[in-house]
Amino acid sequence: MAGLPYIVGNWKMNGTRAMLSEVRAIDRSAARFPKVQVAVAPPATLLYRVRDAVEVIGIGGQDCHAKDSGAFTGDISAPMLKDAGADFTIVGHSERRTLHGESDADVRSKAEAALAAGLAAILCVGETEAERDAGRAEEVVGGQLEGSCPRIDGAPEKLSVAYEPVWAIGTGRVPSVEDVAAMHKSIRDKLVAIYGAGGADVRILYGGSVKADNAAELLSIPDVGGALVGGASLTAESFLAIVGAAASLADD
Ligand code: PEP
Repeated sequence: MAGLPYIVGNWKMNGTRAMLSEVRAIDRSAARFPKVQVAVAPPATLLYRVRDAVEVIGIGGQDCHAKDSGAFTGDISAPMLKDAGADFTIVGHSERRTLHGESDADVRSKAEAALAAGLAAILCVGETEAERDAGRAEEVVGGQLEGSCPRIDGAPEKLSVAYEPVWAIGTGRVPSVEDVAAMHKSIRDKLVAIYGAGGADVRILYGGSVKADNAAELLSIPDVGGALVGGASLTAESFLAIVGAAASLADD
């Protein structure tokens, strides 16, 4: 697995101009951690402002439409995100899959649209608690990857996968180290099955209640290439503690 540890903040539907001071502080400190790749996905309304406010970190959207333009009220396309200064977009977050009824096929189209627009894509997958309790977690996540991974020519260099167990998002609960390790291995195997040798280089992030006090343990797990962070990315202080944990591991 190649690349620096990748720590990405997902602000979800949080943030007005008042939060630009947080992103400036994140950016200033990220410059001190060159061994960590840091990024934030603010709400789309802030993309232009955040682009102007930062120099070091990446910035991204939280979703995109599969089409480039058209009669899709309220939606934002991948070329529009790119035009606003985004470097990447998240697709297939469980809140989109559940609350907006997005299917694997929808997510795949969005990921393909993002890559075609020159954005990197962070593709989210993850099982519900009922699916894990039924012993189906790896089967469910494997099926999501099968259905939603973009089909592209060559190695998917601009693709990351984020494993986010739905039951761990915003709950303060995290899977055991063994369960994360087993799932990331299973995701790796599936990516190699889909992409061939190039699948070995796709970064796999963990997401779900990552905080300062569990980040080092989670980021030390084999094949965990970074973290997608929700709640703890909303202040520079809590987000930078996670970035700092990643930097300490990278220094070892
Ligand atoms: C997320 O929604 O992507 C997420 C990981 O949220 P939290 O860190 O708050 O669990």
